[in-house]
Amino acid sequence: MQVGVDIYETTPAIDIEDSRTIKVTTPNGRITSDKLVICTNGYSHNVPSVRLKNHQLPVWTYQVVTQPLTPEQWDAIGWYKRQAFEDNRQLVHYFRPTADGRITMGGGRVAVAYGKDMDKDSHPKAWQHCEEHLKWIYPQLQDVKIAYRWGGPTSVNLDMTPEIG
Ligand SMILES: Cc1cc2nc3c(=O)[nH]c(=O)nc-3n(C[C@H](O)[C@H](O)[C@H](O)COP(=O)(O)OP(=O)(O)OC[C@H]3O[C@@H](n4cnc5c(N)ncnc54)[C@H](O)[C@@H]3O)c2cc1C
Repeated sequence: MQVGVDIYETTPAIDIEDSRTIKVTTPNGRITSDKLVICTNGYSHNVPSVRLKNHQLPVWTYQVVTQPLTPEQWDAIGWYKRQAFEDNRQLVHYFRPTADGRITMGGGRVAVAYGKDMDKDSHPKAWQHCEEHLKWIYPQLQDVKIAYRWGGPTSVNLDMTPEIG
Protein backbone atom coordinates (compact mmCIF):
# COMPACT_ATOMS: atom_id res chain seq x y z
CA MET A 1 0.00 0.00 0.00
CA GLN A 2 1.32 3.49 -0.88
CA VAL A 3 0.70 6.19 1.73
CA GLY A 4 3.24 8.74 0.54
CA VAL A 5 5.98 8.07 3.06
CA ASP A 6 9.60 7.25 2.26
CA ILE A 7 11.28 4.84 4.66
CA TYR A 8 15.07 4.90 5.01
CA GLU A 9 16.09 1.72 6.79
CA THR A 10 19.49 1.26 8.46
CA THR A 11 19.96 5.03 8.75
CA PRO A 12 21.33 5.97 12.16
CA ALA A 13 20.05 9.09 13.87
CA ILE A 14 23.32 10.67 15.00
CA ASP A 15 21.86 13.80 16.56
CA ILE A 16 18.42 14.96 17.64
CA GLU A 17 17.77 18.61 18.35
CA ASP A 18 14.53 19.40 20.09
CA SER A 19 13.69 23.11 19.73
CA ARG A 20 10.62 24.66 18.03
CA THR A 21 10.79 21.96 15.38
CA ILE A 22 12.61 18.68 15.87
CA LYS A 23 15.72 18.19 13.76
CA VAL A 24 17.14 14.72 13.24
CA THR A 25 20.63 14.47 11.77
CA THR A 26 21.70 11.38 9.82
CA PRO A 27 25.02 10.73 8.02
CA ASN A 28 23.51 11.82 4.69
CA GLY A 29 20.99 14.47 5.57
CA ARG A 30 18.78 16.19 8.09
CA ILE A 31 15.01 16.02 8.53
CA THR A 32 12.71 18.34 10.44
CA SER A 33 9.43 17.39 11.98
CA ASP A 34 6.80 18.59 14.45
CA LYS A 35 6.64 15.19 16.10
CA LEU A 36 9.09 12.34 16.55
CA VAL A 37 8.40 8.78 17.63
CA ILE A 38 11.48 7.12 19.08
CA CYS A 39 11.26 3.32 18.89
CA THR A 40 14.82 2.35 19.60
CA ASN A 41 13.94 -0.14 22.34
CA GLY A 42 16.96 -1.21 24.44
CA TYR A 43 19.29 1.10 22.49
CA SER A 44 17.47 4.28 23.58
CA HIS A 45 20.03 5.33 26.20
CA ASN A 46 22.59 5.65 23.39
CA VAL A 47 20.41 7.77 21.11
CA PRO A 48 22.16 11.15 21.01
CA SER A 49 20.59 14.23 22.55
CA VAL A 50 17.54 12.45 23.84
CA ARG A 51 17.08 12.38 27.57
CA LEU A 52 15.92 8.77 27.78
CA LYS A 53 18.82 7.65 29.96
CA ASN A 54 16.90 8.06 33.19
CA HIS A 55 13.74 6.44 31.87
CA GLN A 56 14.87 3.03 30.69
CA LEU A 57 17.65 0.47 30.83
CA PRO A 58 18.71 -2.10 28.27
CA VAL A 59 17.99 -5.49 29.81
CA TRP A 60 19.15 -8.62 27.99
CA THR A 61 16.87 -11.61 27.83
CA TYR A 62 18.13 -15.04 26.75
CA GLN A 63 16.42 -17.87 24.94
CA VAL A 64 17.02 -21.48 23.99
CA VAL A 65 15.26 -23.69 21.45
CA THR A 66 15.20 -27.47 21.54
CA GLN A 67 15.77 -29.92 18.75
CA PRO A 68 12.43 -30.95 17.15
CA LEU A 69 10.38 -33.08 19.54
CA THR A 70 9.07 -36.47 18.42
CA PRO A 71 5.28 -37.10 18.46
CA GLU A 72 5.91 -39.35 21.51
CA GLN A 73 7.64 -36.50 23.35
CA TRP A 74 4.76 -34.10 22.60
CA ASP A 75 2.36 -36.80 23.86
CA ALA A 76 4.45 -37.28 27.01
CA ILE A 77 4.14 -33.63 28.01
CA GLY A 78 0.49 -33.33 26.92
CA TRP A 79 0.96 -30.03 25.07
CA TYR A 80 -1.56 -30.73 22.28
CA LYS A 81 -2.63 -27.21 21.37
CA ARG A 82 -0.27 -24.47 20.30
CA GLN A 83 -0.63 -22.13 23.27
CA ALA A 84 2.25 -19.95 24.38
CA PHE A 85 2.54 -19.48 28.14
CA GLU A 86 4.64 -17.71 30.72
CA ASP A 87 4.89 -17.70 34.49
CA ASN A 88 4.07 -14.74 36.67
CA ARG A 89 7.48 -13.82 38.13
CA GLN A 90 9.12 -10.43 37.85
CA LEU A 91 11.76 -12.11 35.66
CA VAL A 92 9.37 -14.25 33.67
CA HIS A 93 9.98 -17.53 31.89
CA TYR A 94 8.18 -17.69 28.54
CA PHE A 95 7.45 -20.77 26.40
CA ARG A 96 6.05 -21.42 22.95
CA PRO A 97 6.08 -24.19 20.34
CA THR A 98 7.72 -23.39 17.00
CA ALA A 99 6.24 -24.15 13.58
CA ASP A 100 8.80 -26.94 13.09
CA GLY A 101 7.97 -28.79 16.31
CA ARG A 102 10.47 -27.43 18.83
CA ILE A 103 9.99 -25.66 22.14
CA THR A 104 11.54 -22.25 22.46
CA MET A 105 11.73 -20.70 25.90
CA GLY A 106 13.59 -17.96 27.66
CA GLY A 107 13.79 -15.75 30.68
CA GLY A 108 14.87 -16.15 34.28
CA ARG A 109 18.28 -14.51 34.35
CA VAL A 110 18.95 -11.18 32.69
CA ALA A 111 21.96 -8.92 32.10
CA VAL A 112 21.76 -5.15 32.50
CA ALA A 113 23.93 -2.45 30.87
CA TYR A 114 24.41 0.95 32.43
CA GLY A 115 26.90 2.30 29.90
CA LYS A 116 27.72 1.95 26.25
CA ASP A 117 28.71 -1.72 26.52
CA MET A 118 26.03 -3.44 24.44
CA ASP A 119 28.03 -6.62 23.91
CA LYS A 120 26.06 -8.96 26.15
CA ASP A 121 24.36 -11.24 23.65
CA SER A 122 26.17 -14.32 24.99
CA HIS A 123 25.38 -15.58 28.53
CA PRO A 124 26.16 -19.28 29.15
CA LYS A 125 24.77 -19.18 32.72
CA ALA A 126 21.48 -17.74 31.54
CA TRP A 127 21.24 -20.40 28.81
CA GLN A 128 22.03 -23.10 31.37
CA HIS A 129 19.30 -21.71 33.61
CA CYS A 130 16.83 -21.80 30.69
CA GLU A 131 17.67 -25.41 29.89
CA GLU A 132 17.42 -26.48 33.55
CA HIS A 133 14.13 -24.65 33.98
CA LEU A 134 12.67 -26.20 30.82
CA LYS A 135 13.61 -29.67 32.10
CA TRP A 136 12.27 -28.86 35.58
CA ILE A 137 8.90 -27.97 34.02
CA TYR A 138 9.06 -31.01 31.70
CA PRO A 139 11.14 -33.79 33.30
CA GLN A 140 9.97 -36.01 30.41
CA LEU A 141 12.38 -34.02 28.19
CA GLN A 142 15.60 -34.73 30.14
CA ASP A 143 17.29 -36.16 27.02
CA VAL A 144 16.21 -33.45 24.60
CA LYS A 145 19.12 -31.41 23.27
CA ILE A 146 19.21 -27.63 22.93
CA ALA A 147 19.74 -26.71 19.28
CA TYR A 148 20.24 -22.92 19.47
CA ARG A 149 20.84 -20.26 22.11
CA TRP A 150 20.68 -16.49 21.76
CA GLY A 151 19.88 -13.22 23.51
CA GLY A 152 19.43 -9.52 23.01
CA PRO A 153 18.53 -6.20 24.63
CA THR A 154 15.02 -4.99 25.40
CA SER A 155 14.02 -1.73 26.99
CA VAL A 156 12.80 -1.89 30.58
CA ASN A 157 11.76 1.03 32.71
CA LEU A 158 11.74 1.10 36.47
CA ASP A 159 8.00 0.73 37.01
CA MET A 160 7.69 -1.91 34.26
CA THR A 161 4.88 -0.04 32.49
CA PRO A 162 4.85 1.30 28.91
CA GLU A 163 5.82 4.93 28.58
CA ILE A 164 5.48 7.39 25.70
CA GLY A 165 6.14 11.10 25.61
C1 LIG B 1 15.77 -13.22 23.17
C2 LIG B 1 14.58 -12.29 23.10
C3 LIG B 1 13.30 -12.81 23.26
C4 LIG B 1 12.17 -11.98 23.20
N1 LIG B 1 10.94 -12.53 23.30
C5 LIG B 1 9.84 -11.75 23.19
C6 LIG B 1 8.54 -12.31 23.23
O1 LIG B 1 8.38 -13.51 23.35
N2 LIG B 1 7.47 -11.47 23.13
C7 LIG B 1 7.62 -10.12 22.96
O2 LIG B 1 6.64 -9.40 22.86
N3 LIG B 1 8.86 -9.58 22.94
C8 LIG B 1 9.94 -10.35 23.04
N4 LIG B 1 11.19 -9.78 23.00
C9 LIG B 1 11.29 -8.36 23.01
C10 LIG B 1 11.53 -7.81 21.62
O3 LIG B 1 12.68 -7.01 21.74
C11 LIG B 1 10.34 -7.00 21.17
O4 LIG B 1 9.14 -7.70 21.17
C12 LIG B 1 10.51 -6.43 19.75
O5 LIG B 1 11.60 -6.92 19.04
C13 LIG B 1 10.69 -4.98 19.93
O6 LIG B 1 10.63 -4.38 18.65
P1 LIG B 1 11.08 -2.90 18.49
O7 LIG B 1 10.91 -2.55 17.05
O8 LIG B 1 10.38 -2.06 19.52
O9 LIG B 1 12.63 -2.87 18.91
P2 LIG B 1 13.90 -3.52 18.18
O10 LIG B 1 13.52 -4.70 17.34
O11 LIG B 1 14.95 -3.72 19.23
O12 LIG B 1 14.34 -2.35 17.21
C14 LIG B 1 15.01 -1.19 17.68
C15 LIG B 1 15.68 -0.61 16.45
O13 LIG B 1 16.25 0.68 16.74
C16 LIG B 1 17.42 0.81 15.95
N5 LIG B 1 18.26 1.90 16.46
C17 LIG B 1 18.96 1.96 17.64
N6 LIG B 1 19.63 3.13 17.74
C18 LIG B 1 19.33 3.86 16.61
C19 LIG B 1 19.72 5.15 16.12
N7 LIG B 1 20.54 5.98 16.82
N8 LIG B 1 19.24 5.56 14.92
C20 LIG B 1 18.41 4.76 14.20
N9 LIG B 1 18.00 3.52 14.60
C21 LIG B 1 18.47 3.08 15.80
C22 LIG B 1 18.07 -0.57 16.05
O14 LIG B 1 18.99 -0.77 14.99
C23 LIG B 1 16.85 -1.48 15.92
O15 LIG B 1 16.58 -1.83 14.58
C24 LIG B 1 12.34 -10.60 23.03
C25 LIG B 1 13.63 -10.06 22.89
C26 LIG B 1 14.73 -10.90 22.92
C27 LIG B 1 16.10 -10.30 22.77
